[in-house]
Amino acid sequence: MLIETDLTGLPVLVVGPPRLTAATVRRYERAGAVVSVAASPCDMTTEASEGARLGVLVGPAVTWAGARTALAGRCPVVTEPVPDAPRGRVVLVGAGPGGLELMTLAGIRALAEADVVLTDRLAEVGDIAALAPGAEVVDVGKRPGHHAVPQDEIERLMVDRALAGLTVVRLKGGDPYVFGRGGEEVAAAVGAGVPVTVVPGVSSAVGVPGSAGIPVTHRGVSHLFTVVSGHVPLEPHRAEALAGLGGTVVLLMGMHNLLPLTTALVRGGLSRDTPAAVVERGFTPDQRSIVGTLGTLPDLAARAGAASPSVIVVGEVVRQSAVWARRVGAEAVGRALDVVA
Ligand code: SAH
Repeated sequence: MLIETDLTGLPVLVVGPPRLTAATVRRYERAGAVVSVAASPCDMTTEASEGARLGVLVGPAVTWAGARTALAGRCPVVTEPVPDAPRGRVVLVGAGPGGLELMTLAGIRALAEADVVLTDRLAEVGDIAALAPGAEVVDVGKRPGHHAVPQDEIERLMVDRALAGLTVVRLKGGDPYVFGRGGEEVAAAVGAGVPVTVVPGVSSAVGVPGSAGIPVTHRGVSHLFTVVSGHVPLEPHRAEALAGLGGTVVLLMGMHNLLPLTTALVRGGLSRDTPAAVVERGFTPDQRSIVGTLGTLPDLAARAGAASPSVIVVGEVVRQSAVWARRVGAEAVGRALDVVA
């Protein structure tokens, strides 16, 4: 049921077991009401009903004799049937690589409909409370001084809230399925019988190089790109396979492994002169590109103090960026290379 009336400030008493009233409470709160809850027949005291200007009896509360008596004559009473099945759901939303403008309209709509938002550090879309009015916002990500909520607990939170009838948005940086554990979260929802949908997001793997003027494919230069986790060093057989592909290699989560990664690619068969770039903090005012070659990039990035979050791009496409053009210009006039921009 959609509540279209403005209930701002109206004291509403919702009566019924918490398992069944959670969604009702959210709906009335979103409409501006000041909601109190009587979760069992013994909560239906005279004091509980005293200030109420509207009573809402949910499911079995319709038959709680005390409830009707306590409310009778004080205020209007409406009843809500028990939902046949839990109507909660989970929506995984890709927030894109930074800023609200890079989120999809479907993602923004999902936030507006959310009762609960589970968010983390990489989903930097600004004021989530304003985008999801009335929703409970839970930060499950790692921030300085705070521990990240373990994955199984995130999934439990998500499923429990949905089983209680709530619409749960799981907001994730970039695209939920690109190193975002989206697959595991979908499996958890499906396993619990909760309907789940996924709203894709702009992945940093493509968007961040693009924002630095590096197209991941370019006609006549590279007709394929491979996105690789740099979280752990590349095993020799994978590095060889990547080198043999002759396309663009995009590495995420690789800054703490930059030297082992570039070394592995050179050992795997790529030239030390292969253009390579680090694009740091894409779509923020502090965005920087550090451009060099597989041979020079680790040292350049270390000297520039480059850190996570950054995307590492390896391949001829790096030559397309304006930063590369400046590097070549600097080389031509024999100046020290200024390759950070
Ligand atoms: N699901 C995300 C990726 C999660 S893994 C996506 O599709 O984009 C996290 C990694 O993404 C970071 O370590 C970094 O390599 C990259 N990343 C995400 N946002 C970024 C940004 N704004 N700038 C640079 N790199 C970013």
